[in-house]
Amino acid sequence: MATYTSSTPQQFFGQLPEQTDVLIIGGGVIGTCTAYWLAQKGVSVTLCEKGRVAGEQSSRNWGWIRQQGRDAAELPITMESNRLWKQLTEETGEDLGFRQQGVYFLAENEEELKSYEAFLEIAKQHQLDTELLSAEEVYAQIPGRKGKWVGGMVTPSDGRAEPWVAVPAIGRAAERNGATIVEECAVRTLEFEGGKLTGAVTEKGTIKANRVLIAAGAWSSLFAQNLGVSMPQLCVRATVAATQVAPDIFKGDAADGTFAFRKREDGGFTLAVSDIHDHYIGKDSFRHLAKWLPAVKASFKGISFGLNPPKNYPDSWAHRRSWTGDEVTPFEKCRVLNPAPNPRAIKRIQERLYDRFPQLRGLKFEETWAGMIDAMPDFVPIMDEVPTQQGVFIATGFSGHGFGIGPAAGRIMADMLMGKPAGYDLTRFRYSRFSDGSKIELGPFI
Ligand SMILES: Cc1cc2nc3c(=O)[nH]c(=O)nc-3n(C[C@H](O)[C@H](O)[C@H](O)COP(=O)(O)OP(=O)(O)OC[C@H]3O[C@@H](n4cnc5c(N)ncnc54)[C@H](O)[C@@H]3O)c2cc1C
Repeated sequence: MATYTSSTPQQFFGQLPEQTDVLIIGGGVIGTCTAYWLAQKGVSVTLCEKGRVAGEQSSRNWGWIRQQGRDAAELPITMESNRLWKQLTEETGEDLGFRQQGVYFLAENEEELKSYEAFLEIAKQHQLDTELLSAEEVYAQIPGRKGKWVGGMVTPSDGRAEPWVAVPAIGRAAERNGATIVEECAVRTLEFEGGKLTGAVTEKGTIKANRVLIAAGAWSSLFAQNLGVSMPQLCVRATVAATQVAPDIFKGDAADGTFAFRKREDGGFTLAVSDIHDHYIGKDSFRHLAKWLPAVKASFKGISFGLNPPKNYPDSWAHRRSWTGDEVTPFEKCRVLNPAPNPRAIKRIQERLYDRFPQLRGLKFEETWAGMIDAMPDFVPIMDEVPTQQGVFIATGFSGHGFGIGPAAGRIMADMLMGKPAGYDLTRFRYSRFSDGSKIELGPFI
């Protein structure tokens, strides 16, 4: 259902042109939405994807489109994104699975309930429809085990979409607007003449371009390192399970302290636990350790560490960190990053499903999978032009919330690439915040 591999049929067969105004590296939700908005404005845009459009994080996520609980600087952008999901559904003429049935946070004690107040204040400032729920109100909407939750917080305008359907559909619409999307086309490196960006070398040949967007998800840092551009991006593996068609007990998205569930359009639930994530220690883990210390201190619980990243992974010890355009790169050696799910997480998901919803005991999993979530040490993305390399833009590090914000992040990057104002103060998302001596300000972990 949601798991793409290299043998998933190819969907995009664009031919690499000799020249393009904007080259996008990566066909996740960020690259694909950027291509959509650029093509809609008549800009010539080419998107190269090493494997499958939405093959990695952008099809493996929970599908939540969430304004609730977001970083104050991200909130207005997620609110725009929420509107754009509706607009995209109308403009593409395709059912992206977008449904506004609310995101609920469920408190297991009074302290958790109290912790929601800080976000309520931010929500009020932005006229967002977030509200607190009593235990009775929670149970009236979510028929879980009595006594588990003491109350909650809900944003009814929040919603979901079906990731593996939505992103390729936006890609098809981008093509209809004139974008070229080339799958099985890893970009190896960028080319410069006299310090000026002139284009890129891909495994299918060279392409001239004077503006490039790196939207390569978990691979962005590795790609950038080869250009001498450093960013402290690291990844964690997150495991997900999808049940078979389930009784229709709840239509929204919800999470308590350790368990998340949401109804899918096909009638099953997508489930996960939030206290098992795996980080494979590679070279970058050491390189960026100092930057990550505040995040590790705040969210250490629940992260387990593995010493040996599988050999094709972005931060594998086996990768060289520099190469030329003539060499086969790590990007083409791993068409689709498809980590095995963590069996411990699967077991815990099942236990918690039956604990929260005893009436669903016996409900089977139809599929389990994992994805590598890429993040920055403050849990908010970079959306910026690299100050030292004119024409090279980066949109990456969206943590566990890049799917929902994708349409607005793509709109922002499209405007930035066209030299237009993005409509927001993007200081929080600047590339240089990790090197200009600023203190790391942690955003919300999820
Ligand atoms: C288990 C899980 C649950 C999540 N749940 C949610 C959720 O409910 N809501 C939410 O908003 N977000 C969620 N997220 C996060 C969200 O999925 C990501 O933030 C988002 O998909 C990132 O999109 P992206 O376009 O940056 O990266 P990706 O989707 O990873 O896309 C990057 C693409 O770049 C390609 N690429 C890399 N290098 C090259 C190269 N050199 N040449 C060509 N192509 C290249 C890759 O193949 C890949 O397809 C979740 C993530 C995971 C893994």
